[in-house]
Amino acid sequence: MQLRFKEKTPAVGDIMNFVFTSDQPVSWLPGQFIHYTLPHKDADQRGDERWFTISSAPHEGEIHLTTRINREYSSSFKQNLMSMNAGDTIEADLPEGDFTVDDLSRDYVFVVGGIGITPFLSILKHLDHEGKGIRAELLYANRDESTIPFKDELESFGRKHPGFNITHFIGGNLIDEAALRAAGEKLNDPIYFVSGPEPMVEAFEAKFKEMGIDEAHSKFDYFPGYDAV
Ligand SMILES: Cc1cc2nc3c(=O)[nH]c(=O)nc-3n(C[C@H](O)[C@H](O)[C@H](O)COP(=O)(O)OP(=O)(O)OC[C@H]3O[C@@H](n4cnc5c(N)ncnc54)[C@H](O)[C@@H]3O)c2cc1C
Repeated sequence: MQLRFKEKTPAVGDIMNFVFTSDQPVSWLPGQFIHYTLPHKDADQRGDERWFTISSAPHEGEIHLTTRINREYSSSFKQNLMSMNAGDTIEADLPEGDFTVDDLSRDYVFVVGGIGITPFLSILKHLDHEGKGIRAELLYANRDESTIPFKDELESFGRKHPGFNITHFIGGNLIDEAALRAAGEKLNDPIYFVSGPEPMVEAFEAKFKEMGIDEAHSKFDYFPGYDAV
């Protein structure tokens, strides 16, 4: 399908939100992603294809792509994304992926590094729209207190839905085994969702094996192309 670029809006730090519309109806589950192709001249070695989570919720009717735009270095793909004008199109496959919350009778621990928050934005906005809460502990790691993506939106959700709690981990204060266990102990047999830079997610996958958190109790969303948080 072709998506039409509408506008871009800066968020905190180096985060940019790109808004697209579709001429045909497009449906997705909160937490799913899209494979995009943006052909351009002089593409760098990372090429003209990328995957991005849909950070908007279905009721918003628009597809939001939320990403980091590094001021000193950006791939040719992201430079081209930045230079899109209203009405320009981008090739997109249908939404896919199973990083979705399927059962609200269960409890959850969300383990997130930085921009890995995008699937949870869609999930939480959707729940809020439906008037539903969720029993979940969000463990949220960021380099810097002043550039935590979507901090206000997340805290606002937490105020409205008391079952949802956020613990911030800043800089060298890492999400370790003790933090994972402490979050898990507040909940009943939780499912762990991990999302963020690929090296971080792989490290948690290994940690879960050591801790005995099995596949039925874990889901992983890997963002390649980023260093650890
Ligand atoms: C299922 C899925 C969902 C995803 N969802 C998202 C999402 O919602 N949001 C998101 O942002 N990403 C998401 N990603 C990751 C995304 O596809 C990109 O891989 C990521 O954004 C990096 O983009 P980029 O390769 O264009 O690099 P850029 O972000 O443009 O590259 C910046 C990075 O390149 C490195 N770098 C710095 N200088 C240089 C240099 N001189 N030469 C080469 N490299 C340098 C640095 O590490 C820097 O941080 C997702 C990936 C998958 C598979």
